[in-house]
Amino acid sequence: MKTYDVIVVGAGDVGLAIAFKAVSKGLKVALVDKGHPGGTCVNSGCVPSKMLIYTADRIIETRENIKFSIRSGIIDVNFRAVLERMRSVVTRGRNSIKKAIEESENLHFISKEGHFSDEHTLEVAGDKIRGNKIFIATGARPSIPPLKGLDKVPYLTNESVLGLKKKPESIIFIGGGYIALEYAHFFSALGVKVTIIDRNLTLLPFGEREISELLKKKLETRIELHMGVEAISVRSTVNGPRVLIRNISTGGEKEISAKAVMVSAGRKSNADLLKLEHAGIKTDKANFIKVDECLRTNKKHIWALGDAIGRAMFTHAGDKEAELAWYNATHRRKIRMNFQSVPYAVYTSPQIASVGLTEQQARQGRNILVGRALYSDTVMGEAMMEREGFAKAIVEKGTGRILGFHIIGPNAAILIQEVVNAMLNKGDLKSITQCIHIFPALSNIVPETFSNLQ
Ligand SMILES: Cc1cc2nc3c(=O)[nH]c(=O)nc-3n(C[C@H](O)[C@H](O)[C@H](O)COP(=O)(O)OP(=O)(O)OC[C@H]3O[C@@H](n4cnc5c(N)ncnc54)[C@H](O)[C@@H]3O)c2cc1C
Repeated sequence: MKTYDVIVVGAGDVGLAIAFKAVSKGLKVALVDKGHPGGTCVNSGCVPSKMLIYTADRIIETRENIKFSIRSGIIDVNFRAVLERMRSVVTRGRNSIKKAIEESENLHFISKEGHFSDEHTLEVAGDKIRGNKIFIATGARPSIPPLKGLDKVPYLTNESVLGLKKKPESIIFIGGGYIALEYAHFFSALGVKVTIIDRNLTLLPFGEREISELLKKKLETRIELHMGVEAISVRSTVNGPRVLIRNISTGGEKEISAKAVMVSAGRKSNADLLKLEHAGIKTDKANFIKVDECLRTNKKHIWALGDAIGRAMFTHAGDKEAELAWYNATHRRKIRMNFQSVPYAVYTSPQIASVGLTEQQARQGRNILVGRALYSDTVMGEAMMEREGFAKAIVEKGTGRILGFHIIGPNAAILIQEVVNAMLNKGDLKSITQCIHIFPALSNIVPETFSNLQ
């Protein structure tokens, strides 16, 4: 049996980060992955979706040119070429990771599925490997609800959608989380008739309520939204799949149809593949791996991170966790992961970005101030004729501590970064308002929002 200083299970962004850190310290490392290195982000998540969404954004912007008195039109969008470009970027990313792995001395990449046989040993394709320290970064996969008839329909997921050669005329999304919203934005911008069904009454129900409301209002102009509705069954017809849906409050049922169905009903932990019981590693109710605040499992030498722990399921959160897990596994002093300051963005049109508590969450047991500003309150926002986009700041009264910040509108993901930095550095609102902001720039919306606190 081969013995390694470190075994990493999962070669997504997060597992790769740990493996390369370990190798850079001169340690002998085994990296096990059953799929393509790069995991979800590179192969079927962030990277391909954003390649597609950028095209959608360009289409929407071109259509909006008319508000600046520019007459322009889109003659044609070559769907096949748009998808080919995305696929070539994915292949390039994947190949450069493969090359980096191959060129790493002391890194043994095992391209197979692995599972535990005891708390120090993994079995990979019949061979056993032993590790002094083990890092679990096995991520998650699309969760497929047990809908009657679904297995008989060639449904899409965030993985298979990337293989499309032809644009579907219409598509139904089962589940309306951020993955659905981003792909719905893409397809609808390309002229596909899009329907989303979701159990919740609100889009992105964990987010800031006013932002969800504006997002719904904007998306409804080009996407059919069925909220508070669940899918019951799916059947195939000569005209494409039909989905039977039921309104959760009234019980009313009806069938809706489209040429394609995409299942976007959340993410399922890959922990079921790991035979964790052989190592005695604990999981939560949803089968994500339980870790303490320092990302250690209930076993002293085993750490878990990234989507595998089911917390902030974003690449940027996983990258930070990799930094911390590695530090904690190699130092006596431990650092806690601060999930409060993990931001996220949803690349719809309008774009959304958010960090920290919502107003509703912050009001529980705290005295707070809330500030709002419209994009159009700033010169650049007015130049862009951005009438509805806005930002909202939530601050602790007395201390000025920033508790949350939420934006809906152009470049939201870029604009929020200075607030994220301030929060991470435990800054109060002065760390924003006392900075000199270039005038006029869209970033003026951030201090403007904090100047309106009441
Ligand atoms: C459509 C979509 C869009 C997204 N967009 C964004 C975005 O814009 N920004 C953002 O921050 N995040 C985004 N995410 C989330 C992001 O992709 C994930 O948070 C991130 O990729 C998780 O990385 P990970 O390394 O933890 O897991 P993964 O990347 O999923 O890697 C896990 C790896 O483990 C391997 N594996 C699993 N079990 C085993 C086993 N038993 N043996 C061997 N190998 C195993 C898998 O093959 C996989 O390669 C998106 C996700 C999706 C699905």
